[in-house]
Amino acid sequence: MKKLFLIGLVFCSITQAQNEIDLSYYLPQNINYDPNIPTPKSVIGHEVGKWHVTHDKLVQYMYALANASDRITIEDRGKTFEDRPILLLTITSPQNHSQIDNIRNAHVAATNAGSSSLNVSGRPIVVYQGFSIHGNEPSGANAGLLAAYYLAAAQGDYITELLNTTVILFDPSFNPDGLQRFAYWANSNKSINLNADPLDREYSEVWPGGRTNHYWFDLNRDWLAAQLPESRARIVSFHKWMPNILTDHHEMGTNATFFFQPGIPSRIHPLTPKINQELTRRIGDYHADALNKIGSLYYTEESYDDFYYGKGSTFPDINGSIGILFEQASSRGHIQESDNGILTFPFTIRNQFTAALSTLRAAKNMREDILIYQYDFYKNARSEAARENGKAIVFGDEKDAAKTYHLAEILHRHHIKFHEVKQDFTANGKHFKKGYAYIVPKNQKNTRLINAMFEKRTRFQDSLFYDISAWTFPLAFNVDYAEGVSTNNAGVEVTDLQFKSGAVSGKSNYAYLMEWHEYYTPRLLNKLLGKSLRAKVAMKPLRLNGKQYDYGTILIPVQNQRLNENDLYELLNQLAKDSHVQIDAVSTGLTQGIDLGSRLFRALKQPKIAVLVGKGVRSYDAGEIWHLFDTRYNIKITKLDTKSVDRADLSRYNTLIVASSSASGMSESDVKKIKEWVKNGGTIVGYRNTLKWFKSKEFAKLEFKKVEVEAKDVSFEQKDDFEGAQDIGGAIFEADIDRSHPINFGYKNNQIALFRNTTIFMKPDSSSYNNPIRYTKNPILSGYISKPNLDSLSLTVPLQIKKLGKGKVVAFTDNTNFRAFWYGTNKLLMNAIFFREEL
Ligand SMILES: [Zn+2]
Repeated sequence: MKKLFLIGLVFCSITQAQNEIDLSYYLPQNINYDPNIPTPKSVIGHEVGKWHVTHDKLVQYMYALANASDRITIEDRGKTFEDRPILLLTITSPQNHSQIDNIRNAHVAATNAGSSSLNVSGRPIVVYQGFSIHGNEPSGANAGLLAAYYLAAAQGDYITELLNTTVILFDPSFNPDGLQRFAYWANSNKSINLNADPLDREYSEVWPGGRTNHYWFDLNRDWLAAQLPESRARIVSFHKWMPNILTDHHEMGTNATFFFQPGIPSRIHPLTPKINQELTRRIGDYHADALNKIGSLYYTEESYDDFYYGKGSTFPDINGSIGILFEQASSRGHIQESDNGILTFPFTIRNQFTAALSTLRAAKNMREDILIYQYDFYKNARSEAARENGKAIVFGDEKDAAKTYHLAEILHRHHIKFHEVKQDFTANGKHFKKGYAYIVPKNQKNTRLINAMFEKRTRFQDSLFYDISAWTFPLAFNVDYAEGVSTNNAGVEVTDLQFKSGAVSGKSNYAYLMEWHEYYTPRLLNKLLGKSLRAKVAMKPLRLNGKQYDYGTILIPVQNQRLNENDLYELLNQLAKDSHVQIDAVSTGLTQGIDLGSRLFRALKQPKIAVLVGKGVRSYDAGEIWHLFDTRYNIKITKLDTKSVDRADLSRYNTLIVASSSASGMSESDVKKIKEWVKNGGTIVGYRNTLKWFKSKEFAKLEFKKVEVEAKDVSFEQKDDFEGAQDIGGAIFEADIDRSHPINFGYKNNQIALFRNTTIFMKPDSSSYNNPIRYTKNPILSGYISKPNLDSLSLTVPLQIKKLGKGKVVAFTDNTNFRAFWYGTNKLLMNAIFFREEL
């Protein structure tokens, strides 16, 4: 009884304490604060930590600070998908502000060729501080209110010296849409009597949660590929300033404590210089000191890694900067029971705030060493580059200018220089065509980044990875490429990268032909079919007017259409421009190969597509599909929630896409309903784990290989590492393809690269024509896979297509839409949809 009473008392005092908390809980108390600077409460209406700050209020406060303080300027760098501003504050002394362009120019110039020595005296260090890239890890962004206030309002010698020697690029929210989504959840479920019960609804967000951005992407995997607006804005700031330190404030499980980098020493990418980690460790001493003072537990080096350069704490490491990850145990809502007692939201905010300040203290004190580190990074990179003078990488696809453009676009964002090819040439047995290929000289500033983007790596110091182990860009784009080609093939440098515009070769009164290789052809085809215009697909190649047309060529006849000759021509002109594709006017049906009236031209119907979302579905994978259709192909798809299946009229759709999922979000009768719909002619496309219920619910007879690895001489301590080593965290594999199969239309080579992060190994069909895509004998191209898994994967298939009644089941073991940058396999899904009748 007494004990219970005591516990009650503790609860009470903590919850009360949280409701009564004010700035004194967080801020250093031995200094003065400028009363002319608005406190967070005076603008957002509550103390920091009492509620979860919404992004709108965060924006309001940052503008209020910028208005009130001569230490702060603010810029709006663009909009998220939900039209929220992507802000950046520049915080430094008023004197530095008065010559900010000079400071920036000098800072960046030190990383360029021609800066023979570095004079560090009087030169500020540049620190980029960013918060809550995962929206439901909100202590970072809420601590940002305090950090910005402190930097604007604190008085005294320390802050004066700090601001004189430091330029802070302050990014209050890395993920505005996610932060807003989560704040809504946590606030709307908060009780007056704070409830620490982990089972309270407050701590259990609805699908898909606030971690991700609008299309459910993990923004902390997009720093390198930069496919999303939030990343693009950041990358511009990064290259504009070349910060010396970049911090990334996260949260982890509720029972943890606080983590700061360095991460696991054996999992550092080998292209990252050793000194980077030494400096990270020295910076860590400052975090330890500061956390000791407030009595917070923490750890370092035991988890997380610096391998994949697409993460915020690792991307800087290949760009001469030092990336630092912070992870705070999450209260998720306002207060939660944990192994370390009651964890309050203010406590989590205070740790983040403390680490933000200790970062700045480290930066100020280590300024010279870190400036010299960056200078040396580029000096050494330049000498590595000089050794490769005259050598280059060429990439391109002579049938797909758009894919080539989008890869070049990534290089462009990262300030990697490239050139047109001077004239068509062949290297490594691949043909590179002017206008469809680019050359990247190795001898340039960002040569290390080029290596990180283009290299294939299959040997590793460690066999565990926090994220993917391979991201080789030309493979992800499925473009041809060759390394070690001569720069003599280089034409003019591309400074103003332009999308190749599409066109129709002329007006026809007979027919038009369009090859299927270009990336955006599905966008055009969908528009045509949506206007009830007739189009057909060629099941075989043909030759006409001296031009070879590949499998999958689209035929648009002129006669008997809903538009007359002129209107059709006008429309095609417009669509060809919109979709950047080439359409040829032809005047005869007689060809070498199948004639235009052949039965091997099959009529196409518009797809009516739903993608399953909600409980049981992996939100990242579903979001990638939504994003692909919505933003790339302008194709409308219905996001059909698993909870709506029972009342849905499925006859509205002819295609249902099921990203990786268990069937757990649906009842038996929902699954049965979907099965009946397939039997009546629907096409269901399933990915990854979905294949398991396709098998168990008898949608399709699929057979999987079981891999069992016996633990021999593995101690208890080694168990996790042993098991982890059997995962495929994300690697790239080679498959042979049968180009005559409609699933492969639009691919010009006989092999493709596939991304895989599952250990689902599917056995091939006994009839070879039913195995249009098949892993090669030794399929690893880049990344980590254990030997037993590699043996199992050999000669299996990533795809099976089975009939079910009048319908079809299309089963992919691998994600063809990974993180929006795997352009190379997007067409497989498009083929499954547009050519579903022909599969
Ligand atoms: Zn996180």
